[in-house]
Amino acid sequence: MTARRVRLALDGPAGTGKSTVSKRAARELGYTYVDTGAMYRAVTCLAVQRGLGLTEEAAIVELAEQHPVTFQSAETGEPRVFVAGQEVTTQIRTPEISRLVSPLSAIRGVRTALVRQQQALGSAGGVVLEGRDIQTVVMPDAEVKVFLTASAEERARRRFLELQERGTPQDYDKVLTEICERDDRDSSREVAPLTAAADAAIVDTDGLTIDQVVAQIVALVRQAEGEAR
Ligand code: C5P
Repeated sequence: MTARRVRLALDGPAGTGKSTVSKRAARELGYTYVDTGAMYRAVTCLAVQRGLGLTEEAAIVELAEQHPVTFQSAETGEPRVFVAGQEVTTQIRTPEISRLVSPLSAIRGVRTALVRQQQALGSAGGVVLEGRDIQTVVMPDAEVKVFLTASAEERARRRFLELQERGTPQDYDKVLTEICERDDRDSSREVAPLTAAADAAIVDTDGLTIDQVVAQIVALVRQAEGEAR
């Protein structure tokens, strides 16, 4: 009998290696990877293009409702992101979007629209959904829930190196401040704050390699597949 394909809900703050780990785990498992942060970023991008300010909430919610975000897997393994008939894969990673995405994602109606899309993407199983509220809001009944953590300094160091590699270096102290601010906002917001589910496996990634984290997560999924058989 073949193992049932389950749902993996993977959450945690910025800089825990969440994206890299989710992508790698999805590849090893043969699962679909859904980057929900990219969806909030895509709506942010669209709002900026349309010249909307953060206070124009009704118009932003309408954008989120009318323009579903879609993904296409690319040969490099980095999924391509589309919204409103255009590709936004690169634009969604600019510092401007990174700054605006957190307040925009605190708008209740935006979350309702995107959570609905995410639930549809995850419904068939065989998926890794990565974000901030997957285990608490989007898929509270996911078979496997993992919450990644790491110290703020370690996360800032990783982000600093990543930005350097991308050719868009930034000052380390600035990166650390921005990470702390974004965490504060994401954890203290009224709607769907960043937090681990009571039954999540908490993986502290300080001192662990990406390979070690991926191995732990893949083992949890394999075990759940066996149990769900
Ligand atoms: O994961 P990433 O850093 O790309 O996410 C960008 C932002 O989108 C987060 O800082 C958070 O404000 C928001 N987000 C969210 N819920 C999710 C995923 C991302 O609020 N499920």
